[in-house]
Amino acid sequence: MLNASFEPLCVVSARRAVVLVLKEKAEIIERNGAEFRSERTTVPAPSVIRLVHFVRVPYRTRVPLSRRAVFARDGHRCQYCGRTAENVDHVVPKSRGGTHSWDNVVASCRACNARKEDRFLHEAGFALRQTPRAPHAALWLLATAGTSDPAWERYLPGPSSGTRGGTPSLTAEVAAPA
Ligand SMILES: [Zn+2]
Repeated sequence: MLNASFEPLCVVSARRAVVLVLKEKAEIIERNGAEFRSERTTVPAPSVIRLVHFVRVPYRTRVPLSRRAVFARDGHRCQYCGRTAENVDHVVPKSRGGTHSWDNVVASCRACNARKEDRFLHEAGFALRQTPRAPHAALWLLATAGTSDPAWERYLPGPSSGTRGGTPSLTAEVAAPA
């Protein structure tokens, strides 16, 4: 579901998308070829919809931090050596004042996690492959949706864009009852 500005907002079920279209809260941008039928009407099943009215999204709200989310952001790669990640590591150890936040948590392989112990990067001789940041909501929704539709791709930002200046909330309340 896109905002009126074409900004991606969240993933909704096809049924909910159809309800929003029927209530004229949203319009169909891309269809997937299937149809929803009722006694009175037939609606093409949408794969992308756009809200008719712009929804203001609270920009201070962040994507919730979880192990799964960190793995998705970091592509399941250890941010120290690039191998498959199995752990989540605090860059500045919690025991030394590090916070449990997007900019201090990275995916890590078991070996690096064990080798680093409760040390700072320079003490352990470690370097990060990229600076950890809160992920863009649009990329996060792909990770949580489980499935991705190729038709969504052109509406999503590239991996390097849109990570600055706050992350739109995925739980933006759309003014439409189900
Ligand atoms: Zn590693």
